[in-house]
Amino acid sequence: MKYVGAHVSASGGVENAPVNAHAIGAKAFALFTKNQRQWFSKPLTGKSIALFRENCEKYGYEPFQILPHDSYLINLGHPDPAALEKSRVAFLDEMQRCEQLGLDRLNFHPGSHLKKMTEEACLQTIADSINLALDKTQGVTAVIENTAGQGSNLGFRFEHLAYIIDRVEDKSRVGVCIDTCHTYTSGYDIKTSAGYLKTFADFNVIVGFQYLKGMHLNDSKKELGTRVDRHDSIGKGFIGPDAFRRIMNDPRFDNMPLILETPDPEIWPQEIEMLYGMVEK
Ligand SMILES: [Zn+2]
Ligand SMILES: [Zn+2]
Repeated sequence: MKYVGAHVSASGGVENAPVNAHAIGAKAFALFTKNQRQWFSKPLTGKSIALFRENCEKYGYEPFQILPHDSYLINLGHPDPAALEKSRVAFLDEMQRCEQLGLDRLNFHPGSHLKKMTEEACLQTIADSINLALDKTQGVTAVIENTAGQGSNLGFRFEHLAYIIDRVEDKSRVGVCIDTCHTYTSGYDIKTSAGYLKTFADFNVIVGFQYLKGMHLNDSKKELGTRVDRHDSIGKGFIGPDAFRRIMNDPRFDNMPLILETPDPEIWPQEIEMLYGMVEK
């Protein structure tokens, strides 16, 4: 079973996210549990938490259909000790918010070396950051997203994800999220049939599908290997519809949140419908 949705607004309170998801016909959703552009947000209120859980139940969203995303400010591989500590504190807060909401996974971008440390040292720092957060929380899996490899962002090779996972102590609470746009612009040609097969066969060998906890379904405004992160609406970018048709008919992507982060929220209902329309009966 496929669970397609979008990264919906939680403006006015996290409890609004499941309502917004239901309104667009989503069977899954992503949300920010705090303002993604600020370091500090007020704690979630008991009322907000209760309403979130109530609305999820009302509209039939279970934790495996929900993929919260952390703040864009956090860099768990930061080369500067003070800045790293700030990121670790913020990440723990994000994990704890998920715990409070009864959610079972948190999606984040691994981190950036800012050209001040080696890739290996940065990946090790990211793994250490994950271990620290997992030590202080329960029931929430840290879900590392693959990146486009823009700037000094790591996570653009499946080997980076595997390197981090290898160094995480509790393997039962680490996972990955594959973003189709990032995959393509980082150099994996999922556009062609042969490229799609090879990309996910490689992924299975290097990382393993048992770690896949969600997908971001985005087309790309940039070409293969450009290492630029610019999402496009499904079927309108350089990836095109075929890769998404393959995903929608590939059981390896069953039973996890498949999240649109496409640039035009107005057409999310149509994009969701289009994706379900690709499923071959
Ligand atoms: Zn993404
Ligand atoms: Zn992106």
